Formats: sequence, structure tokens, C-alpha cells
Amino acid sequence: MAVVPDTEETMKKCICGGCPSRNQCMKENMEGLFCAKGTTTCELIKNGCICGACPLTAEYTLDKMYYCEIGAAE
Ligand code: SF4
Ligand code: SF4
Repeated sequence: MAVVPDTEETMKKCICGGCPSRNQCMKENMEGLFCAKGTTTCELIKNGCICGACPLTAEYTLDKMYYCEIGAAE
């Protein structure tokens, strides 16, 4: 597992935008890339996590999910 850099390039690859757990609050705050930026400031209701399908999961060998809840990958 590697630290995910918080860059424009990684932000573009993040697929949180299509996640069933992404809510209005996250949209309004333009939140995403939680594996680099850390937890959401929004209330989270878990409806599934699609991090497993994100290209960054393979690139940085991430082994967890729900980074919006658990915070940045270390
Ligand atoms: S692993 Fe999850 S939180 Fe990280 S960029 Fe991909 S979809 Fe977003
Ligand atoms: S970290 Fe996972 S659960 Fe949270 S918004 Fe991104 S894909 Fe969805």
C-alpha cells in the first residue's frame, strides 16, 4: 500500500463521483479522492463503496474501502 498523492491527476481518476454512497453534501462540497484527502465532512450513509473498481486502487495497491469514512490511505 502506498500514499496516494493529492493531485489534479489522481483527482481525475477518482470514481467517487459515481458511488452510491456519494450524497448531496459531498457533491456540494465537491469532495472526492478521500484516499488522499482524508475523511468526508459530510454525514455518511453507507450504500456501498466502489473504490475497488477505481484505477488508483490498483496503482497504489490500496487494500481498504470507504476512505471517506476511514480517512486517507497510509
Ligand atoms: S480509491 Fe476510492 S477514494 Fe480513492 S480515488 Fe478511488 S474512488 Fe476515490
Ligand atoms: S470512498 Fe468509497 S464509499 Fe466513499 S465516496 Fe468514494 S467510492 Fe464511495
